[in-house]
Amino acid sequence: MKNKETYIEVAVALPVNKTFTYAVPGHLVEIASIGQRALIPFGRQKVSGYILNITAVTGIDNPKPILDILDHQPLFPPDMVRLFKWMADYYFFPLGLAIKNALPGGLNTRERPALGITAEGHNALKNEILAPMERLVLSKLSAAPASPRNLEKTVKEGPSTTLIQHLLKQGWITSVRTLKQDRVRAKMERFVTLVEGSLPDKKLSPARQKIVDQLREESTLSIGALKKGHPNAPDLVRKMAEAGYVSIASKRLYRDPLGEPIQSKAPPTLTKEQKAAVETIGRAVDKGFATFLLAGVTGSGKTEVYLRLAQTTLERGLAVLILVPEISLISQMERRFRSRFGDRVAVLHSGLSAGEKLDQWQKIMNREYKIAIGARSAVFAPFESIGLIIVDEEHDTSYKQEGELRYNARDIAVVRAQQQQAVALLGSATPSVQSFHNTMDGKYNLVKLTKRVEQQKLPEIKIVDLCRSRDQKGWRRYFSKELLTALGETMHRNEQAILFLNRRGFANFPVCASCGKSIQCKNCDITLTFHQKYNAYKCHYCGFAISSTSPCPSCGSTKIHHLGVGTEKIESTVKELFPGKNVQRMDRDTTSRKGAIVKMLKGLKNREIDILVGTQMVTKGHDFPGITLVGIICADLSLSFPDFRAGERTFQLLAQVAGRAGRGKTPGRVILQTYNPDHFSIQCAQHQDFHAFYQKEIGSRKALDYPPFSRMVQIKISSKDRSKGNRQAEIMGDLARDIIKANPLFGKTIRIFGPLESPLPRIATRYRWQLLFKGLQLSPLRNFMQQLLFDSQVDRSHRDVNIAVDVDPFFMM
Ligand code: ADP
Ligand code: ZN
Ligand code: ZN
Repeated sequence: MKNKETYIEVAVALPVNKTFTYAVPGHLVEIASIGQRALIPFGRQKVSGYILNITAVTGIDNPKPILDILDHQPLFPPDMVRLFKWMADYYFFPLGLAIKNALPGGLNTRERPALGITAEGHNALKNEILAPMERLVLSKLSAAPASPRNLEKTVKEGPSTTLIQHLLKQGWITSVRTLKQDRVRAKMERFVTLVEGSLPDKKLSPARQKIVDQLREESTLSIGALKKGHPNAPDLVRKMAEAGYVSIASKRLYRDPLGEPIQSKAPPTLTKEQKAAVETIGRAVDKGFATFLLAGVTGSGKTEVYLRLAQTTLERGLAVLILVPEISLISQMERRFRSRFGDRVAVLHSGLSAGEKLDQWQKIMNREYKIAIGARSAVFAPFESIGLIIVDEEHDTSYKQEGELRYNARDIAVVRAQQQQAVALLGSATPSVQSFHNTMDGKYNLVKLTKRVEQQKLPEIKIVDLCRSRDQKGWRRYFSKELLTALGETMHRNEQAILFLNRRGFANFPVCASCGKSIQCKNCDITLTFHQKYNAYKCHYCGFAISSTSPCPSCGSTKIHHLGVGTEKIESTVKELFPGKNVQRMDRDTTSRKGAIVKMLKGLKNREIDILVGTQMVTKGHDFPGITLVGIICADLSLSFPDFRAGERTFQLLAQVAGRAGRGKTPGRVILQTYNPDHFSIQCAQHQDFHAFYQKEIGSRKALDYPPFSRMVQIKISSKDRSKGNRQAEIMGDLARDIIKANPLFGKTIRIFGPLESPLPRIATRYRWQLLFKGLQLSPLRNFMQQLLFDSQVDRSHRDVNIAVDVDPFFMM
């Protein structure tokens, strides 16, 4: 019988739009599997490619053999290849790069150039007369290969390039490939338990006796905890273990992200609505693909519904994936899932170190976990058989990835559920117009929770017209009488308050008093924001900062007025108004340090913080019963965005932040200050009336053919070279118009806008243009994009000009 060849299909992490076939040499056939990376010859380079398929047949003549297999274990299960292919196709993104983007960074082992010793080198070391430096380098390399950089570090003074070249020429050393993988260590702690009946009859030393007493009381304690009682405990415990009195076991340590040990609590009795939701959705688990939208008012107990459904899914032997918009919310979700499911829960988010992430990822691959909670990128968690994918706060814009590969994790979650024949469960108090529309269309099933758990009332929302205080000076402009009174009462009763303003900094509008020009960023066409804490004007887009004592760049005057208001100014005002109270600020400036958010949340929970001032970070689903007042300083900031979703976002933001109030026994209230008291987004937020908002909004979307009645794709073009970028934008625009003209279906269903300079025309020294396509039908739009991007001769990997494709764009500035 003829020896059968084995071939693999690989995707390389390069901007190419097809996959490649290679042969697998005999000695690698046994090791190769889908999901691993192979080292392949590619043109004149050697690159790594993800193995997508293994077959015995190929239509290609004499495919080149691969050079090596780079991973011991697959990085993803075979079933995910479909998902990656869908993504590459839907987002018009090279497949290999899409996979690379989806995998956690730490997983891609890095290849490093290194030098190694050859057999001749060993010989030379033994038999030749060598210069001292030659000997040093060779003996160093005979121990282990090293990078040239590493050699410099370990060999004093470092070998010269000439020396290395010489050794290479002699054939004594050669370049080798080493793979560096991040070392991983899970956080383990050692726990001590008494071994019953093993204690000696003789008296123990007081220190030992104390440890025994402590263990009698708690049965198991960590060495860390014992150390608190006696500094010598580690040593004593070790000796006691040797004597057989106690046993020591390493256990993985789980803590509440707020720093407290997690206790398991008995699940509460479900409310009638929760029970109905769990039954309806639970019936669909393991019965094929279905999507549910769980629309539940803030505080209606959606998480409890998730927990019960997770239980149902686990009982069927299927995995559960839970997506949460932000790290700060993951901690809450994690706490509640861990208290129910203990160490069956994996957590994936960007706050983990590369090593920790890798650890979680591999354990999911090894089927050690059945539940994973994470932010956006956790949608790629490498489960093999998923039964339920939950997307909490599904309306949240954090699910949209804006980096290289622009995807929406909520949408991928639904696609993944479909591919896996699983249930997708999208939950929100303020569903996206898109998802709600899908329930009207029958694509999704709607399940509602209309009441808060313990029947707490939704907070009363009072609207205050800011126009009335327009003529007030300074802070009085932004603190209406109503807000001040409410704050005063809340503080007097020792309750907590949140003040929300969607703008960082102190004053957002420094203007020169002499020439009237605003102070702008030198890299972006954007006004800088004054930050008092740093005594500087900062750019919120690129981070550029100049000292606030700098003169006006236009006229040199040093007299600069500060207009507008940001969170920093609100914070300092409140501190002055309520001197005895603990006022903290939560925004991107105060939370950049690791652990800062958690610390603040802990302060809120323990009621150490009286007033929390913050940006949209404070609107997210936190659950703190002590908060009885929410003040919205200015509700209008998100309304003025040049974006068809501005109204939707404003409604969501306001309804969400209002939902933070009154979650405990005491009813909550909300003071909403606005310049547009009659705007329907604000009116609907006041009455927490999602349906009224949806009716009005969907009507205008329909009238203007906006999504969900059309699909959009935006091409974002940027360049440091203004004229090159501009030319590229024009070329793409002309090409797009030609393609549309040539096809009547395109002409009928596709509208093109632009190319235009972006509303933010320059960010971080890059000039920006955009081209927007709106398609009334999906498939012609996709065909059109295919032609524009791939069939035409547009060079997307242009060196000086960056062309990014944003399918279903969110941020169109
Ligand atoms: P949502 O996510 O809908 O805003 P949560 O799931 O955070 O609401 O629930 C609000 C609070 O009510 C939480 O503290 C939760 O523990 C509690 N809770 C949820 N369901 C019940 C129930 N059936 N009985 C008692 N308490 C509940
Ligand atoms: Zn000036
Ligand atoms: Zn800037």
